Amino acid sequence: MSEAVLSVRDLKVYYHTRAGPVRAVDGISFELAQGEKLGLVGESGSGKTTTALAIMRMIKPPGRIEQGQILLGGVDLLTLSSEEMRRMRAAEVSLVPQAAMNALNPVRRVADQFIHGLRDHGVNGSHADMQERVRELLQSVGLPAGVAERFPHELSGGMKQRVTIAMAISLTPKVIVADEPTSALDVVVQRQVMETLIDVQEQIGSAVLLVGHDMGLMAQFVDRIGVMYAGTLVEIGPVEETFENPLHPYTRLLISSLPDTKGKKRLSGIPGLPPSLLNPPSGCTFHPRCPSVMDHCPAEVPVLQKAGVNQMVSCHLYSETSA
Ligand code: SF4
Repeated sequence: MSEAVLSVRDLKVYYHTRAGPVRAVDGISFELAQGEKLGLVGESGSGKTTTALAIMRMIKPPGRIEQGQILLGGVDLLTLSSEEMRRMRAAEVSLVPQAAMNALNPVRRVADQFIHGLRDHGVNGSHADMQERVRELLQSVGLPAGVAERFPHELSGGMKQRVTIAMAISLTPKVIVADEPTSALDVVVQRQVMETLIDVQEQIGSAVLLVGHDMGLMAQFVDRIGVMYAGTLVEIGPVEETFENPLHPYTRLLISSLPDTKGKKRLSGIPGLPPSLLNPPSGCTFHPRCPSVMDHCPAEVPVLQKAGVNQMVSCHLYSETSA
């Protein structure tokens, strides 16, 4: 793999409630290579969106980044001032948000929003040059240039999400963080928007961290996939190897719960409920739901370690094999 453009190291993000800290992200580490597409999947509450927002330094109180490093091109984002981080956003690391409507200003035309963002990051030029740049960006995501003159409410959900993708690439960032970019769209538009995102990401050579809950959809677009459970990364590896040989019992259940293309497979769900992150289960947090649980699983916390050629897993099944 080429050199890492983004390194997340031992990141912890807690939400501080009256009942105690909710450990939304509890010590995850991973790297993203230049131009790579990494997917983060998991059930709701697994910590994947919190991870995405932490990378953008957009965690709001009562949430707080407790510890860790987020190295982008060697700079630890967690050490930057608010103003330094504001300049980093869009220019070096940009976000395609979950809800496009909330990311766009409803009372400003699309072109004005682009131009404001570009000028804010030091891009100067005549009004005509800037308008031309906006039209090019819109066309690069498959939108007609005329969208520049529209207000967000005049656009469909898929068009709005394409506008946010165009905004995210406008300053050719090193990393694009896409947080469930298609969750509000219907199935046909979801695929088109994903294809657009990956097309433009490949054109500009950015790496992308794609967060989502639809493992089947994501698998078609990413190089590697990371599986999160209860705020930790339980497995990470190349997408094909993960699907052919899932290691963690939770990954196996996630994959077996996907419908097959012929619709013949009997769908199996994942037993039990995601754990409380206020008072997570001891040892391996998956142990109350795990079909392979062993005596020592409730007592010992597994660590993410290499298993196989390119895969990493956090599960005692593999600690024992390697012992
Ligand atoms: Fe299951 Fe034990 Fe592995 Fe956890 S560590 S996933 S409980 S086998």
